[in-house]
Amino acid sequence: MNQRYLLLSLLLGLSFCVCGQSDPGCLFDQLLEPAAFERQTSLVASTAQQRTEIHVRTVIHILYATPEGNVSDSLISEVMDQINHLIHAQDIDTSLIHPEHRHLVTNAQINFCLAQTDPAGNPTNGITRKAAALDYFPGPAFTDSTSTEVVKTDSLGGITPWDTERYLNIWIAPMVSADNTSNYGIPKVEFMPGGPILAFSDLIPGVVMDIDAILNQPNNGANIIVHEIGHALGLLHPWGFPGTCEFDDLIDDTPTCQFPGGNCLDDANSCIEPTDDRVDNSANFMGYSCMQMLTPGQVQAIRSNLLDLNPELLLTNYFCNLVTSTTPPVGTAIECALFPNPNHGTFQLNYQQPQLSDVTIHLYDAVGRLLQTDHFSNTRTINKAYQVSADKSGIYFMTIYAGDQITVKKIMVGY
Ligand SMILES: [Zn+2]
Repeated sequence: MNQRYLLLSLLLGLSFCVCGQSDPGCLFDQLLEPAAFERQTSLVASTAQQRTEIHVRTVIHILYATPEGNVSDSLISEVMDQINHLIHAQDIDTSLIHPEHRHLVTNAQINFCLAQTDPAGNPTNGITRKAAALDYFPGPAFTDSTSTEVVKTDSLGGITPWDTERYLNIWIAPMVSADNTSNYGIPKVEFMPGGPILAFSDLIPGVVMDIDAILNQPNNGANIIVHEIGHALGLLHPWGFPGTCEFDDLIDDTPTCQFPGGNCLDDANSCIEPTDDRVDNSANFMGYSCMQMLTPGQVQAIRSNLLDLNPELLLTNYFCNLVTSTTPPVGTAIECALFPNPNHGTFQLNYQQPQLSDVTIHLYDAVGRLLQTDHFSNTRTINKAYQVSADKSGIYFMTIYAGDQITVKKIMVGY
C-alpha cells in the first residue's frame, strides 16, 4: 500500500470514528489530497477587509424523490434567513462556545440572496426543481471523481449548475441512502492559494445538502449549510488534514487540533501549540459538534476569497430577502415584490399574505384596459412570471385583490 492510499484509508477510518458524535455528515475530508497540505502555508492575505455587507447571488436546486423532499419555497426562504442570521452571528447560542473562544465570535457581514435573474436574464425566484432520477445520489468517494458530480449533472439525473462564476449553487437532494447522510461543499480551486487541496481538481464548486438535513436536523439544517458554505468559500475543518498536528486549517486564530471535538464545551486540547495554546474550538462552524461561530481569521479568508478572487459572485444591485420572504406569522402584513421594475416586458410577481384566501390579479395598461386576469384559489403564496409586449413601452398597473385587501403595483416597461 503506497503512502497515499494508506492516508486515504486512515481518512476513511476516521470518517467512521466521528459518526457517533454530532457529525453533520460532512464528507469533505474524503476529498482531500494529502500531498496538497505540504504545499500550503497560509491563506491568502486579504486585500479587502473593508467591513461592509456583501451579497452572494445564490441559487437552490431541489431534486426530490418524494413529495416531502419537494420542500416549499417558503421553507427555503426560512432556511435562507436562518443562514443569514447565523453568518451574521445572530441567534447563536454563545453558552455552547468555550469561554476561551467567545471573544472571537465574528459577524461575517455576508448575505446569501436568492437570485432574481437566471443566467439567461429571465426572472426567477432563485429556486429550481426537478424530480430526481435516482432514489439516492452518490456522495464523495476517494476512488471515483464523478461520484460528487452526479447530483450536479442533468444527463446523470441531477441538475446542471448555473454559471458557477456568478452563482453560488446549492443542491438539496436525497443523498447516499436512507441510513446515511452526506453533505459537502466544494471550493473553487483558486480559493486555496497553495494549489488544489482536493484529490480531484475539476469538481464543480458549490454545496450539496442531503434532504435529510433540511427535514430532520435542528434549525432545518441551517448550521450545517453554513458549514458547507464555509467549505465552498475555501474553509477547511479546524483539524485541516485529520489525525495530525502537523497541518491544520491554515487559519491563525483557530487552535490546531487533530479531530472533531466531543462536547461543545469540551476542554480537549489535542495539539499543544508553542504560543497562544488554547483548547480545541468545538463550537466552530467548521467543526462537527456545535457549529456556532466563525473567527476573525475565517471571516477574513472567506471575504477575501469573495471580494478579491470571485467578485462576480456578488450582487451590486440587490433586493435580498424580497424574492421569497420568510413566511410571516398570521396577522402580519402582505409582502409583495415585483421585479425587475423597470423592465423590458418580462417581470416576476412574488406575493405572500398571512392567511389563505382566494386571490384575483388584474393587469391594466396606462389607459385602463384590462390585459390579463388571474385567479388563485385558497392560497398564501403566488410566484408568477408576467409578460407584456416589449414594443408597448409605458406604465402598467397590477391590482391584487385578496379578501378585503387590495394591493396596487405600478410597472414601468421599456425604460
Ligand atoms: Zn465539513
